[in-house]
Amino acid sequence: MTLAIRNALIFDGTGSEPSVGDVLIDADRIGAVGGVGPADEEIDGTGLAVAPGFIDVHTHDDFAALFHRDMTFKSRGGVTTCIVGNCGFGAAPWDAASVMAQSIHPKAEMPRYDGYAGYLAALEANPPGVNIGVLAGHGTIRMAVMGTERRAPTDVEMAEMHEIVVEALDAGVLGLSTGLIYEPGRHAQTEEIIELTSALQGTTALYASHMRNEAEDLLAAVRETIRIGAETGVPVQISHHKATGRANWGLVRESLALIDDARASGQVVNADQYPYTAGSTLLRAVMQNKMFDDEDGADGVVVASCAARPEWEGRSIADLAAEWEVEPVAAARRVVDEDGSTFVVIHSMCEPDVELVMAHPSTMVGSDGLPTLDARPHPRLYNTFARVLGLYSRERGVLSMAEAVRRMTGYSADTFGLVDRGYVRRGGFADLVVFDPAGVIDQGTFDDPNQYPIGIQHVFVNGVEVVRDDVPTGALPGRALRRVDT
Ligand SMILES: [Zn+2]
Repeated sequence: MTLAIRNALIFDGTGSEPSVGDVLIDADRIGAVGGVGPADEEIDGTGLAVAPGFIDVHTHDDFAALFHRDMTFKSRGGVTTCIVGNCGFGAAPWDAASVMAQSIHPKAEMPRYDGYAGYLAALEANPPGVNIGVLAGHGTIRMAVMGTERRAPTDVEMAEMHEIVVEALDAGVLGLSTGLIYEPGRHAQTEEIIELTSALQGTTALYASHMRNEAEDLLAAVRETIRIGAETGVPVQISHHKATGRANWGLVRESLALIDDARASGQVVNADQYPYTAGSTLLRAVMQNKMFDDEDGADGVVVASCAARPEWEGRSIADLAAEWEVEPVAAARRVVDEDGSTFVVIHSMCEPDVELVMAHPSTMVGSDGLPTLDARPHPRLYNTFARVLGLYSRERGVLSMAEAVRRMTGYSADTFGLVDRGYVRRGGFADLVVFDPAGVIDQGTFDDPNQYPIGIQHVFVNGVEVVRDDVPTGALPGRALRRVDT
């Protein structure tokens, strides 16, 4: 079975300028690029672009891949591969992971599996619509071994955590993530993380971190992350690089300089970013990390999902505080007491910082979307890639479109060790997206976020069409992507 996409503008994922030609899909691979002979099926790509399928390097889709297997909230945005297990929240060990699964998917029944090997096997037994690459989550591992203890691990506990990291690596994970603002990861000192990250030595796995601070102590947090990479020799990935809180706007200029310095000294340091001035996280973590105080910010903290009180979704903490006639912090506490898994959207960044980070050569694209599909998730869940292409590249020129495509395909595949993916290249896997370069744009607002972007016409995963003419096909051709050490 062959399919030719004819006469399309080919962005090959390398960042070089596109050229018009044909792409041949032959079973699950790209059979030819450029001039292509007859094929069983044809798509007229005139006026359209074809690019490698987008790789969402920062997701929390570990369980959505099991519960919402079509994954259309991603594939309709052009995504063909999701990297799961970010911010310290991993898919195993099962008992600790199922707590996290509950917070995003309160109604779902989680299938039993054993370890990361079991999780990857579960994906293979019931494949989702997109490919899944996996990071092991330090927070989940720490929870499994130490519960909510706030102290350093004993030697025995360290050995147990180490053993779980090794199990994950043997199963084929692409790296280890931390979430150093969350329970229980926030209680880990740098030494604990260095020790566990050292298990990655001799592999192609990377260390990805939701750092300890993204506000006034951003630079200390970046230094900690770079130190972990320097002391272990493991590549590091700074998750959702940003400076949050008005007083800290502009700090990314210095954090980017720290990245430049580390790269100049030969270290592998990269970052990912979602293209919005609002973030989204657990309200509990916002409180614990004092991410808003009464005078600054309660207006900009809006309930995104609250399964116990869905009527609060869409309302700001300031608004709830006014209704209840209490201080905003007290209102936030009341929401957390009612539902500890409440997620909020936080309007806390500035546009120049978003553009500065995006333009920097260390940055790739990752949505950080939280698949709370029944609630009001941050629109980044669906729209991240279309927004980078349409708003930041085409309209604002922050990046050329070829470079924007590279930051969501080839660069990402190389960084996360995805073999034969991320490029439009003969012999590579046929993960492809056909989009309208003149019209692609994000949709969805914070009030009405559950909308798909415009201009993503066709999406192929391993040669199988998962979106055709904007409509999901229901196909489930995704694969579990295991690490290949070279
Ligand atoms: Zn995070």
